[in-house]
Amino acid sequence: MKKIILSIIASAALTACGNKEENKLSDMEMNFKYDVEKFYDLQILRYQVPEFETLSLNQKLLIYHLSLAAEEGRDILFDQNCKFNLPIRRVLETIYTERIGADNASEFASLEKYLKRVWFSNGIHHHYSCDKFLPDFSKTFFNSCLEKLGDEKLTGLLANVAGNSLAEKKASLVDVMFEPALYAKRVNQADGQDLIATSANHYYDGVTQTEVEKFYDAMRDTTDKSPISYGLNSLLTKDEAGKLVEKVWKSGGMYGKAIDKIVGHLKDALSYAENDRQKKVIELLIEFYNTGDLKKFDEYSIAWVADSTSRVDFVNGFIETYGDPLGLKASWESIVNFKNEAATKRTEVLSENAQWFEDNSPVDARFKKKECKGVTAKVITTAILAGDCYPATPIGINLPNANWIRETYGSKSVTIENITYAYDQAAKGNGFKEEFVDNDADREMIEKYGYITDNIHTDLHECLGHGSGQLLPGVSQDALKAYGATVEEARADLFGLYYAADPKMVELGLLPSADAYKAEYYTYLMNGLMTQLVRINLGDQIEEAHMRNRALIAHWVYEKGAADKVVKLEKRDGKTYVRINDYNKLRTLFGNLLAEIQRIKSEGDFEAARKLVENYAVNIDPELHKEIKDRYAKLNISPYKGFINPTYELVEKDGKVVDVKVNYKEGYAEQMLRYSKMNNNVD
Ligand code: ZN
Repeated sequence: MKKIILSIIASAALTACGNKEENKLSDMEMNFKYDVEKFYDLQILRYQVPEFETLSLNQKLLIYHLSLAAEEGRDILFDQNCKFNLPIRRVLETIYTERIGADNASEFASLEKYLKRVWFSNGIHHHYSCDKFLPDFSKTFFNSCLEKLGDEKLTGLLANVAGNSLAEKKASLVDVMFEPALYAKRVNQADGQDLIATSANHYYDGVTQTEVEKFYDAMRDTTDKSPISYGLNSLLTKDEAGKLVEKVWKSGGMYGKAIDKIVGHLKDALSYAENDRQKKVIELLIEFYNTGDLKKFDEYSIAWVADSTSRVDFVNGFIETYGDPLGLKASWESIVNFKNEAATKRTEVLSENAQWFEDNSPVDARFKKKECKGVTAKVITTAILAGDCYPATPIGINLPNANWIRETYGSKSVTIENITYAYDQAAKGNGFKEEFVDNDADREMIEKYGYITDNIHTDLHECLGHGSGQLLPGVSQDALKAYGATVEEARADLFGLYYAADPKMVELGLLPSADAYKAEYYTYLMNGLMTQLVRINLGDQIEEAHMRNRALIAHWVYEKGAADKVVKLEKRDGKTYVRINDYNKLRTLFGNLLAEIQRIKSEGDFEAARKLVENYAVNIDPELHKEIKDRYAKLNISPYKGFINPTYELVEKDGKVVDVKVNYKEGYAEQMLRYSKMNNNVD
């Protein structure tokens, strides 16, 4: 499972930097340019890999080889996303690098922009909406480029496109690019349609949804306590006799060439494993890639969960199933990382003190846990992102996905802090705070403490909030039905808000000052009352559970504190601003709402949950909505962001490797073209 943030949240919830304040800023840090370039609705950023140089040479070499293993799988994902993606990308790259048609400057510029988008989306469909995007250049221009490319080159580039002649192949490529109705959606989830036949992905070929469901239903043994994730690593199609067959992604099978390269780098990594446990993890993954045996994949996953002590860690394989409307087939991805020890201490301190937090919460004693255990979430620094984690990136990952493994062996939950930090840094100077924060003093406070308090709030939410409290005997987990998710998120958020302001946070060394929490209170209310509305279309209501939760909390405290003017909405020159007059009373209100929300959850009081959500979390003031959207649109902030990777170079002395250096110089197109060249291993 992945936790994803859209940049709007990044700029609204995570505001400005503050946590690096304690550390001395290096020259490198101060001169680091996070922003690379913008096109369409996308912004390309760079991230840093702090503390890489403090790792041992062995750890660095482990990361180096695992990174190469990560970079080899990119073309698998392109092909999984749609079978035309690779030929389209290769044709475009050839036109682009040979500057064919460049004399027509505006059409060529459009082609370059389209290619950049194809790189970003790992194909011709929008990475988030899954809709196919169309070129801005004309079909005539593109056909003339194909003409100039020449038949010999095209024959090679289109070798694997179906068709009896080159002319036929060319025509089908052009149709896929330019006809809106063809391969229109990568993943179709619309109820009542054949989801397989109408999805453009390449997990199935020439089969219907009914056939797929029958095929896999027949394989499953519903009494199995350790069920295999059938279908996870294969394409389902038909043989010449019309019989359903799986083409398994493995060495010697489909994607075999790419997989062999991945395995080669994994073997190189083996000699630098930090301990036997980690060595076992890599060995099991190699065995899985060699055999395609899904039982091996489960063994690998179990071994991976068990390795909690190694500093360096990685994911590499067929992991997430969001790209398949039936949730069976997994896209290829990889991420290599190492533990951020200072930040992980933060979550460990919270977990160790879980009982204190439970005992001192403003919740009725009947609803408190007598014995409370916090969850330790690891904070990591990513060193490389690949496949379905690149360039668009999650900020948190929780794996493995197989439920029976999670229940029996647990899971690893990580937050990728060098990515959230880069988001935060890139948001500086985008004009967001200048537009929406009430005054300079509040803005400065957010600059100073916003980033660190937002991290602490997330830690409290994840490590303690969700795990706190208990249901009264006989109350069902599902008693709040459709309102359950919103209430649960509100409960965890309120736990975090209430405790962010507690003197205990300074005492435990988690916050630098007793006033730091105010930055989180301010941005939380600004987001819940106003700025999160930028993600909703005019005329719509709030639907998503996290957004409802934030609206619920913000509107509830706004209303309950109205008599004392705790929180005010002020209008100046047609612009609305949040003003907080009394932070102490605001904290008391958060505590009151936490107590009530916990009561609702513990007693399963459906009617009270319904009222809270319907009254505070759903409706939008249309006038305010329009105002906020208009103000936001003027800032020109890209709604989606992605990252380019650093490069790693071996430093040799007298024929021996003595160090690995990290380098941030590569540009976006440069990196994409380099990957395309090195990956030419999927047909
Ligand atoms: Zn949550």
